[in-house]
Amino acid sequence: MEVRVRFAPSPTGYLHVGGLRTALYNYLFARHNNGKMILRIEDTDRTRLVEGATENLIKSLEWSGIVFDEGPHIGGNFGPYVQSERFDLYTEYAMQLLVNGDSYYAFDTAEELDAMREKQQKAGIAPKYDRTIMKNQFTLGEAETKNLLDNKIPYVIRLKVPFEKEIEFKDIIRGDVSVRGRDVDDQILLKSDGFPTYHLANVVDDHLMQISHVIRGEEWLPSTPKHVILYDAFGWERPQFAHLPLLLNRDKSKLSKRQGDVAVEDYVVKGYFKETFVNFIALLGWNPTADREIFSMQELIDTFTLEKVNKSGAIFDLTKLNWMNSQYLRMKPMEELADLLIPTLQAKDFNYISKEYLMEVINLVKERIDNLLDVPEFAPYMFAKPTEFDPDFINKHWKEHTKETISTYFIELKEIADWNYQTLHDFTLKYVEEKGIKLKDIVHPLRIMITGKSVGAGIFETISLLEKEDAIQRIEYFLNNKV
Ligand code: GLU
Repeated sequence: MEVRVRFAPSPTGYLHVGGLRTALYNYLFARHNNGKMILRIEDTDRTRLVEGATENLIKSLEWSGIVFDEGPHIGGNFGPYVQSERFDLYTEYAMQLLVNGDSYYAFDTAEELDAMREKQQKAGIAPKYDRTIMKNQFTLGEAETKNLLDNKIPYVIRLKVPFEKEIEFKDIIRGDVSVRGRDVDDQILLKSDGFPTYHLANVVDDHLMQISHVIRGEEWLPSTPKHVILYDAFGWERPQFAHLPLLLNRDKSKLSKRQGDVAVEDYVVKGYFKETFVNFIALLGWNPTADREIFSMQELIDTFTLEKVNKSGAIFDLTKLNWMNSQYLRMKPMEELADLLIPTLQAKDFNYISKEYLMEVINLVKERIDNLLDVPEFAPYMFAKPTEFDPDFINKHWKEHTKETISTYFIELKEIADWNYQTLHDFTLKYVEEKGIKLKDIVHPLRIMITGKSVGAGIFETISLLEKEDAIQRIEYFLNNKV
């Protein structure tokens, strides 16, 4: 059987990192098994729709490098891929269940349902539709039901859960799952406005789109018994199920906005590489080997199996994400890094001279930062002369004799014709040896005069990247104005 999997988000805003993990595992599974990856937009809950959310989802998915074979933005043989364009279908199937006695009409008002739930709560029972006492076709009888329908009294169609049965299914990650029928709610399938609920639309579409494996977050596990009942009622073959572990904050609570960013787009803006993010997300709940962390998309595809997905929740560890990003920062070609950074520099009005220069600057500092966007903050002095000078560093390293030492050194430094790392380095080493002074007596003051900061890359590497004229001006400015 051909592997066909789907990512089925509801367009309620942005792509959540948990959603990206689900999409990614579906994609890896599809590609690993030469199957198809489908995007389906589940917009049956009209109250939760957000303008532009679908476009936003697609944008984030495309950024991550997940490629779909079918979907609203591509087309395919099983469309439409947006549930609101398939409404007639769901009514048809809800009716089919009615005819077979697997679903029924119910006429309860919102107040009546609230009262029922309140009573149950008081009695200490889990709230659940009570088919035996509420207003439905069983309690009202055939004639009254017909009468209400004829009079256009609003109704919903509910799933008739087989109470006496044990609902059993197999989950690839969690193993055998079994729930007592009497613990499953008589789920609404078709709402009073004629719209289907998630459950009906989801099952109908998974069947019609020939989905072979349903891979989704653990929060959907409680819905699966209802889905299994529906598959059986329709006489359809069930897909295989795989429920992915929850994503957790460091304190093991469910990943939430309160403790950090949960939208993929936030991480894009923060400058994480897509390769880092995909790699990091892939390891949230799946780990093929204990001794390896860095995987390209192709390597993830080659190695991915659902059997290796863990049952227990996966911690979203920002420290690890930053570490991983630093690894990619070291590996990436300089030209690509420069291209990625240029828009940020332009937006911040940083003058970067040329792309070649920028590549050298990135190369100079990349081992000391873990995010490319930190380059201008870490080394602003590579884009403009410093205007502020770290006072603590000056206090510590600018001693009584320093001005004299540096001024004398400066006279000879200015004479260096060939301005590069080697000449600067060799000249200074020779100079301190001849004068019988320590290298740090030159290097520390140089750092503060050239960069204004106490930390940075090697000072001779730094100075050699600057134009000689520029470096000279910085030293002169400092000696004339700051000490
Ligand atoms: N529309 C559901 C969601 O927003 C889909 C769940 C499923 O994959 O069945 O996640």
